[in-house]
Amino acid sequence: MSKDSPANVETYSGELPDIPYGEASAPGYVNPETGQNTDYWVLTPEERSQGFIRPVRRSYLHRKCGAETVMGQAIAETYARSPKFYGATFCWKCKDHFPVKEFTWDDDGTEVGS
Ligand SMILES: [Zn+2]
Repeated sequence: MSKDSPANVETYSGELPDIPYGEASAPGYVNPETGQNTDYWVLTPEERSQGFIRPVRRSYLHRKCGAETVMGQAIAETYARSPKFYGATFCWKCKDHFPVKEFTWDDDGTEVGS
C-alpha cells in the first residue's frame, strides 16, 4: 500500500501521521489508558465542503452498552460527507473500537455507516 494518504484525507490533529495511511485504520497508536487512538483520519475541509449526504451528527449510541459517545466536528463532518469512511468507531465506555453497525445515531436511531 502507498505510504501517501489520498489527497482528500488528512489527520484529525493536523500533525503528520505516526502510522502511514493504509498500514492501520488510524494514523495514531492506541492509548492503552483510554483505548482511543491518539489520532484519526478525516476528510480534508476541501473534501467536506463538497457537500454532506447525511446530517452532521456529533454523537452516537453503542447498542451493546447504551453509552453515548461524542466526536469532534471534523469526524462528524467526515461521516456526513462519506458515511462509510470509517469501518469501526469508538465507544468511550467500552474503551474500544467496534464495527460501525453496532452503533446508532443519537438523533434518529439510524445505523452508523448507513
Ligand atoms: Zn460501548
